[in-house]
Amino acid sequence: MYAEADLLPLSAVQHLAFCPRQCALIYLEGVWEENRLTVLGGLAHERAHEERAEFRDGVLIRHSLPLHSLRLGLSGIADVVEFHPVTAGGIALPGREGQWLPFPVEHKRGKPKPDHCDEVQVCAQALCLEEMTGAAIPRGALYYGEPRRRTPVEFTAELRAETEALAAALHELVRVGETPRATREPKCRSCSLVDLCLPAPVRRRRDAGAYLRQALQASTEADGGESA
Ligand code: SF4
Repeated sequence: MYAEADLLPLSAVQHLAFCPRQCALIYLEGVWEENRLTVLGGLAHERAHEERAEFRDGVLIRHSLPLHSLRLGLSGIADVVEFHPVTAGGIALPGREGQWLPFPVEHKRGKPKPDHCDEVQVCAQALCLEEMTGAAIPRGALYYGEPRRRTPVEFTAELRAETEALAAALHELVRVGETPRATREPKCRSCSLVDLCLPAPVRRRRDAGAYLRQALQASTEADGGESA
């Protein structure tokens, strides 16, 4: 069990799952690049982080719900936690009859990704909710802006174990206090910190791609907007 003063940001497990160096740059060195992707991500979060509760189609929806887990040493704010009515295995809610099962929904910009870093983040939220409420939470969801739809997430034993291991690794990263060395990988091209982190060859490839897209767009406009 961790002390409250030692809790770390829940969202850091997602960064750690993506790249330990990115996680260290953000949380140890305070580096953050406000690029188009992070701005859009921030806007998606702002919309989800308007504090309110609503009741819709028999489901109680809480926005910006604070979460924590002393077992994992994490704390954060869930975008959305729904409370679904159930006949057994739920929890009581103040002022409401019956039992309710928490169902976390993490909002993300863009499309579902090939990795499962986002699944880790919503699983960490579920583990916090389980510790806070005593309920067993079997599933949640990710909401992606493109297309605007939900992707269900099952909190399997494997995903839970990976999330717990990442939480422990996050505390170890902070304890050691050293930023891992950069290793160039395909994922660097989609990393918001690539220009601050490293590999010039990766940056050159990305810059070349941007140049080619701009050239193609200019050529398309010159042709009257038609393309093959
Ligand atoms: S550019 Fe690559 S190595 Fe550097 S932080 Fe991003 S993903 Fe990690």
